[in-house]
Amino acid sequence: MDFHDSTEQAEWRKEVRSFVHEQRPETEADGGPPQYRERRPSEAFKDWRNKLAAKGWIAPAWPKEYGGAGLGVMEQFIMNEEFAEARVMGGGGMGTSMIGPTIIIHGNEEQKKEHLGAILRGEVQWCQGYSEPGSGSDLASLQTRAVRDGDDWVINGQKIWTSGAHNADWMFMLARTDPDAPKHRGITYFLLDMKSPGVTVRPLINLANGHMFNEVFFEDVRVPNRNVLGEVNRGWYLGTTTLDFERSSIGNAVGQRQSLEYYFKYIRDHKDSGPLVDTPAVKSEFADRWIEAAVAKTLSYVVVTIQAEGRVPNHEASIAKLFNTELSQRIARTAMKMLGTNGQLIDPKTAPMHGRAPQSYMQTVSSTIAGGTSEVQRNIVATRGLGLPRA
Ligand SMILES: Cc1cc2nc3c(=O)[nH]c(=O)nc-3n(C[C@H](O)[C@H](O)[C@H](O)COP(=O)(O)OP(=O)(O)OC[C@H]3O[C@@H](n4cnc5c(N)ncnc54)[C@H](O)[C@@H]3O)c2cc1C
Repeated sequence: MDFHDSTEQAEWRKEVRSFVHEQRPETEADGGPPQYRERRPSEAFKDWRNKLAAKGWIAPAWPKEYGGAGLGVMEQFIMNEEFAEARVMGGGGMGTSMIGPTIIIHGNEEQKKEHLGAILRGEVQWCQGYSEPGSGSDLASLQTRAVRDGDDWVINGQKIWTSGAHNADWMFMLARTDPDAPKHRGITYFLLDMKSPGVTVRPLINLANGHMFNEVFFEDVRVPNRNVLGEVNRGWYLGTTTLDFERSSIGNAVGQRQSLEYYFKYIRDHKDSGPLVDTPAVKSEFADRWIEAAVAKTLSYVVVTIQAEGRVPNHEASIAKLFNTELSQRIARTAMKMLGTNGQLIDPKTAPMHGRAPQSYMQTVSSTIAGGTSEVQRNIVATRGLGLPRA
């Protein structure tokens, strides 16, 4: 692993950095990770997004012919690192990171024409309909049924934890089309218009009092056969499709360090504001967190190095995800400890750091569940990394 940029990479980093410096939308420069700070007016965001789109940087991994930039993983990594350092977001979302690449590889011409341009122009929002009340880690056990009826499929069932379904125009979803086949082989991948009659979205409010995810119910929802992606009953295998995506979590690793810098500034500026703020115990914990943030960044470098060598990171990506998400919880706990009972104040107008520590304490709970739980990641490390037998 080489921590230094090659000459070409240094040039590329300079190009990205100066573009961000000149074109970035205005943000609150408070020193934390992007999710706390990107309260941009939507017009400014659209403007930023358009500038990214013009360079193909909305979907840097997509081939140029589909409006991407055709970048390699190392270039993507540098771009993601620079965006995170400048605390700006890339313009993509599930459209560019998940469903777009799946359509590029498995979609027919009609599907590409209908969806790819709309994703790049930011005209449509997508949500992911995979998890169900009884199927999360064991996703292949999903029970939502799709039955063929003439030119349509009729869908009945329920999805849960569907992030952004309340704002989504389309859902990419999995449904069981052959209940008699082995569980991985009877699932089909559908593109579903969220305005279809019979779709009901109900909000789920999380413990931080935020509305991010939802339950989605399907009652005799008709989906035209042309909205089947890939082959019927082969949907399971489409779900894992990626282009040459950078999977290092470098944005998270940079964000952890920025969070710590924010808390350190608070300690320096508020030494006398609470009994615990400036104590050796708290400072020693923060020192551990600082070292761990450096480890998180190194784990990102491990993942991207494997990818740059043309190999597929497997348990290494699980280690980076596991370490990063558990670190985000430890950082939030240390910040809460620093504030003592003041850590219970959450009103942005009156609480220390605008309530950032308790917000973070609650919000980071979900990070070790979303995208595969810590236990599942540990299973991957144990079986694929250490070669231990399955339990
Ligand atoms: C913030 C957030 C956003 C999400 N967004 C979406 C979305 O947009 N679309 C979507 O489809 N889903 C989404 N999910 C759902 C997410 O994918 C699931 O929550 C996750 O896969 C876990 O599934 P589950 O909740 O059913 O828990 P379960 O799988 O029931 O797990 C319960 C507990 O058992 C443990 N466990 C399960 N299996 C094993 C095993 N084999 N070995 C050891 N322990 C095990 C788990 O680690 C966990 O602690 C989101 C979740 C969160 C938290």
